[in-house]
Amino acid sequence: MRYIRPLSIEDAVGELAKAVGPAAILAGGSDLLVRMKGGFVEPELIVDIKRIGGFSDITETADGFRIGAAVPCAVLGEHAALKKAWPGVVEAAKLIGSKQVQGRCTITGNLCNASPAADSVPALVAAGAKAVVAGPSGKRTIAVETVPTGPGRTSLAKGEIIEAILLDKRPAHAGDAYLRFIPRTEMDIAVVSAGINLTLDDKGIIKTARVALGAAAPTVLLVEEAAEALIGRTLDDGTLERLAKICSGACRPIDDKRGTIEFRRKVAGVLAQRVAATAYKRAGGK
Ligand SMILES: Cc1cc2nc3c(=O)[nH]c(=O)nc-3n(C[C@H](O)[C@H](O)[C@H](O)COP(=O)(O)OP(=O)(O)OC[C@H]3O[C@@H](n4cnc5c(N)ncnc54)[C@H](O)[C@@H]3O)c2cc1C
Repeated sequence: MRYIRPLSIEDAVGELAKAVGPAAILAGGSDLLVRMKGGFVEPELIVDIKRIGGFSDITETADGFRIGAAVPCAVLGEHAALKKAWPGVVEAAKLIGSKQVQGRCTITGNLCNASPAADSVPALVAAGAKAVVAGPSGKRTIAVETVPTGPGRTSLAKGEIIEAILLDKRPAHAGDAYLRFIPRTEMDIAVVSAGINLTLDDKGIIKTARVALGAAAPTVLLVEEAAEALIGRTLDDGTLERLAKICSGACRPIDDKRGTIEFRRKVAGVLAQRVAATAYKRAGGK
């Protein structure tokens, strides 16, 4: 096995593109190393991206935030402006594993590991986040929800690396939130989860909404009907009831020892209501 730590994205992409055997990108390693130790993957080439320029930076731009692909989740929680603008994304990242895991793991790794239960992904999808992808044929910017295509699978081609996640600048009266259900208080993966992002007008009417459910299908579900049920309304009891019904109905979960289909459907609706209430309050709604 060959391990390299390139200093430029061009070198990293070049090495991945010409790799003959299995190759892997190493960010925090909290998924990759576990899978290697378990014998599930045996890369011949490991490309550590942590030394690439800009990969470990969070930059505030005129359009919003650029989060480098090697920024550990713990660092997201220390960035005051990011936390203020996107508290839901940050709270989702800060639910991953433990403090030790958060010192290494990244939201890009969470996205590219493509687990249906990944915590940061519903929050990123609700936020309308974009991924900047660099590859042998140049760069492209894509919606994060197009990255995972199924459990453990992504749309990234050979040689492609996500270099950053982009989050928009926030307008006034905006709020997002994320919650998951786990049977204990931490160090567990979501049985079901929800991320919601809202903007309101100055009377508290919801202007825009994005509702995403995790662990409810092979990939995160962006529930457009749920967003439609919120837009043009305040968050009264009737709206919350409709939201829960739509979210429960949209789920296509598995049935396993961690939760039955019926349980996951029910909890998706309950979580969506609670997450919507927090996002609404954060946006200044009363
Ligand atoms: C003890 C423990 C607890 C955990 N708890 C949780 C939890 O509560 N919630 C949760 O969601 N996850 C959890 N995880 C899983 C893991 O920590 C997360 O998925 C984490 O965010 C992965 O990030 P990473 O940087 O460590 O990824 P890595 O392990 O470095 O990479 C993960 C995958 O993504 C690919 N990859 C990484 N970066 C890029 C890139 N820039 N471009 C393209 N591909 C890339 C890698 O090749 C690999 O296939 C836990 C893991 C452990 C070990």
